Amino acid sequence: MPDPHEGVLRGEELLALDRQHVWHPYGPMPGRQEPLVVEEAAGVRLRVTGHGELVDGMASWWSAIHGYNHPVLNEAARGQLERMSHVMFGGLTHEPAVRLAKRLVDIAPDGLEHVFLADSGSVSVEVALKMCLQYWRSLGRPGKRRMLTWRGGYHGDTWQPMSVCDPEGGMHGLWAGVLPQQIFADAPPSTYEETYAEQLRELIGRHAHEVAAVVVEPVVQGAGGMRFHSPAYLRVLREACDAHDVLLVFDEIATGFGRTGSLFAAGHAAVIPDVMCVGKALTGGYLTLAATLCTPRVAEGISRGEVPVLAHGPTFMGNPLAAAVACASIDLLLGQDWQAEVERIESGLRDALSEAVDLPGVQDVRVFGAIGVVQLDHEVDMAAATRAAVAEGVWLRPFRDLVYTMPPYITGDEDLARIGRAVCAAAREG
Ligand code: PMP
Repeated sequence: MPDPHEGVLRGEELLALDRQHVWHPYGPMPGRQEPLVVEEAAGVRLRVTGHGELVDGMASWWSAIHGYNHPVLNEAARGQLERMSHVMFGGLTHEPAVRLAKRLVDIAPDGLEHVFLADSGSVSVEVALKMCLQYWRSLGRPGKRRMLTWRGGYHGDTWQPMSVCDPEGGMHGLWAGVLPQQIFADAPPSTYEETYAEQLRELIGRHAHEVAAVVVEPVVQGAGGMRFHSPAYLRVLREACDAHDVLLVFDEIATGFGRTGSLFAAGHAAVIPDVMCVGKALTGGYLTLAATLCTPRVAEGISRGEVPVLAHGPTFMGNPLAAAVACASIDLLLGQDWQAEVERIESGLRDALSEAVDLPGVQDVRVFGAIGVVQLDHEVDMAAATRAAVAEGVWLRPFRDLVYTMPPYITGDEDLARIGRAVCAAAREG
């Protein structure tokens, strides 16, 4: 019998090879901080070498909404694997991709009828921006070639998305002057302020001749700073874009599939964008897949142009395995009272984080939907904060001045309380 564990790396050897060869997100090479080694994951728990089980407060960067190793998602993957894991999408189509596109059109804000299946969130934003640029080019207005957004945003790490990320506080400041230069409004205030709304209208009006689209994360700015803003600003953007012939793109990659208490954050304002990106929780965190949806106006505009096609077609476009799991994940979500679960998490986080308000070094505590944030008045000591959370039996990944959680929706009340204790401990020690 061959040993099934032959060749499996463990312990010090695994970490030494990791340090030597493997680039980690936002990290140096060789790595300076030792990552934890995850052996397996089930429900809301990660089994981590040397630390036993940790409750996951991050849902794998906000994607694993149903938790890990879910029997329904496993079955969807297994069933599809036995039929085919992948075929090219050029000239071919298949049931999982068509079913997923139909599901997305059915649940997205009305009017978003066409779906481009991309292979990551950043790529879906690239596609969204390409759609907008090409739309105006097709209509004979190539001068409309810039994007307008507000500060504090984050849209991914590939080139065009980087250009609409926060130009200063974020991760991509290094590339100022190299990236396409976009137009930035101030970051949106948390509550509605007419003077800020006026700034948005004025900026859109002044630059309309050169702006293809306004691109924003609706209601929650995630990796740019975990900030929440009044949904009323979305209506201001919609009206100003309509008044000045500018397209509106909502990046719902972080907010989609219920995270904020509405299936899509656009729903808080009943605003329909021209283009919308989803990703992350689309496959319940199982596989990499994202989608760009657009209206018939955008699709028909592109198709009327001199080059009447959208020149984008990743090798793994429409991956059947990912599409099948995505359909199962959406059905799982809609088949339960997900809104009640998100509300339960929201009130659990409010309770669990209330004591953070009085901790020294804490500047703000905020909760919205299944998102809990403790903002410090200093840069977090990531190693110390991580150690403190792990000591409480929880996995967190703070960044900048933020210790936060976006747990799976299946997180039980006791585990939520534990996450709350870990966030407070990380805020205290970090
Ligand atoms: N947009 C938003 C709002 C995001 O939060 C992210 C990922 N954090 C992205 C785009 C990029 O997605 P991906 O990491 O899948 O490329």
